[in-house]
Amino acid sequence: MDKKIRVGVSSCLLGNQVRYDGGHKHDRYITDILGVYFDFVPVCPEVECGLAVPRETMRLVGNAENPRLVTSKTGIDHTSRMTDFCLRKVIELEKENLSAFIFKKDSPSSGLHRVKVYNNSGMAGKTGRGLFAAAVVKANPLLPVEEEGRLNDAPLRENFIEKVFCYQRWKDFLTQKPDYKKLISFHARHKLQLMAHSTKHLSVMGKLVAAGKNTEPAELFSSYQENLVEALGLKATVKKNVNVLQHIMGYFKKQLTSDEKTELLSLIDKYSRLYLPLVVPLTLINHYIRKYEVEYLQNQTYLEPHPAELMLRNHV
Ligand code: SF4
Repeated sequence: MDKKIRVGVSSCLLGNQVRYDGGHKHDRYITDILGVYFDFVPVCPEVECGLAVPRETMRLVGNAENPRLVTSKTGIDHTSRMTDFCLRKVIELEKENLSAFIFKKDSPSSGLHRVKVYNNSGMAGKTGRGLFAAAVVKANPLLPVEEEGRLNDAPLRENFIEKVFCYQRWKDFLTQKPDYKKLISFHARHKLQLMAHSTKHLSVMGKLVAAGKNTEPAELFSSYQENLVEALGLKATVKKNVNVLQHIMGYFKKQLTSDEKTELLSLIDKYSRLYLPLVVPLTLINHYIRKYEVEYLQNQTYLEPHPAELMLRNHV
């Protein structure tokens, strides 16, 4: 990777003191680990829409589909101020060339999932989305988005970061004079990665590419992108990964000695029983790919969909 990936982030997660109480919610995983690969574009919608630090806390009230943003004690309605800001900001963010957004959970402005929405009796249901997060998602339906809280869950973290790196590769593809031949090569490199998420999407995308020569390029790339994002949104489970590992083994089964075969099968089996993380069978597979020079596999993004230093495949 020669350049960092541009990622929007709720400003308080970077340690900026923009919260209602003048504090922050610095997330070290975001700044210290992901910051090595990501170039962050901070946004604090509450401060940027003109509210002070410190300020009264706010909450969402009314209908979860179309809630209002009001201060918790004094009941001042900031909905118009915030929605006007959101309209301006999503346009401004188009110039930032973002490949993802990480939001602060639970916030009535920035929360992405299960934000509390209060009804007239003061009862809350976790059914809403922060107004700014909703505006970003609406304006960029294909953009990988996540909350910092969910990044503590290893499979969710892996899935999100894998999506970000793949989305960036796709954006790079689109900016480098894309054509039909380059799409065939992009698809070929991502086949196993797609297989780990959805064999159904892999098949649909294969057909799309095969028939693509006679399709208008813009239409072809747009359909391919939609399927790509949709496929990567489906979790790569242990069962799906085992299927891919067995599939990979098929490429050099005949070259492996009987001991090598037994060792690899044993590691795949232990991975399938959650005794070992995915990185273990994959390390041996990478060794065999180099040893037996299996060209087709050498370029597969599945083997390193994100930097190994992030250790995203080291969990069970
Ligand atoms: S959660 Fe969002 S609105 Fe609240 S302080 Fe953080 S960035 Fe600002």
